[in-house]
Amino acid sequence: MKKLLIYFLCIILLVFCIPMMFTNQFKTEEVVSNQIQEEEPIKEKFDYGAYSTIHLLHTGTGEVETLDLDTYLYGVVSAEMPASYELEALKAQAVVARTYTIYKIKNDSKHENADICDSSLCCQAWISKENRLARWEEAYREAYWNKIEQAVDTTKGKYITYQGEPINAFFHSNSGGATESPVYVWGGDYPYLQTVTTAGEDAYTTYRSEVTLSKDELIQKMLEKYSNFTIDFQSQDCIKILDYTEGGRVKTLQVGNTQISGVEARSIFGLKSAKFQWEIIGDSIHFSVIGYGHGVGLSQSGSDALAKTGKTYDEIIKYYYKDVEIHE
Ligand SMILES: [Zn+2]
Repeated sequence: MKKLLIYFLCIILLVFCIPMMFTNQFKTEEVVSNQIQEEEPIKEKFDYGAYSTIHLLHTGTGEVETLDLDTYLYGVVSAEMPASYELEALKAQAVVARTYTIYKIKNDSKHENADICDSSLCCQAWISKENRLARWEEAYREAYWNKIEQAVDTTKGKYITYQGEPINAFFHSNSGGATESPVYVWGGDYPYLQTVTTAGEDAYTTYRSEVTLSKDELIQKMLEKYSNFTIDFQSQDCIKILDYTEGGRVKTLQVGNTQISGVEARSIFGLKSAKFQWEIIGDSIHFSVIGYGHGVGLSQSGSDALAKTGKTYDEIIKYYYKDVEIHE
């Protein structure tokens, strides 16, 4: 009878206690794993939803590559801005590039089978990590790449909005001291893209450039676009700036018998910006150019100059885009 009682107790132990031990063990593991999830940095859990995956067109080969958004942005930031720039400027560039990408996907991808391409002339520049590293001096490679990753990772999930919508976040290399309203560049007006001035951009190599054309070259370039073009270089006013934009760029230029916009002049004569002066010396026309790029939105060298004065990336962004918010 005593033996039977021991057997009975053993069975009770097996049936109830051992499963309870396992259950408790599972519960403990569950609690631990919850704690781990809570301690994960927010950036690991950020979900871009519809914008998580980018279809990137390589203009050189015509291939379309699929990348996650922030991996794509490492390639954009490192192609678009010198890694030697201040970290806050690189962070501003990362947020701007993320915003530009989201805006493109949402509003006006120019490409049929891709969201965006790797050309700065069409969308925004992109370079592979392999090519990027190869173009940096070996001594800087690791530090520069870490800085690029840091700029993108520490701003993960952030993009710029105006009245709740992602903005068309144009940017350029060097404004030459004052940015431009898009109305003078492509037409169209955006309340957040207004002319702003930045000090210190003249310290960058992108600030000043020159182009020299012979009189014949100028005539040929004009004839390619305007077949009725004529010019009398004996006349004092054969080339004349008629008016300027808000940002101090050439708005309209009279060249011989033809009026062209400053933006057209930039394209026809191969100038780095529409902020230029000209001078005829002997048989040549010398253009002295200030700034680099269309001048709309954020200036990259201006961002670096602002960062050097202690401005943070969000202050830089709000400096160049009016009345915007940074979406977290
Ligand atoms: Zn494109």
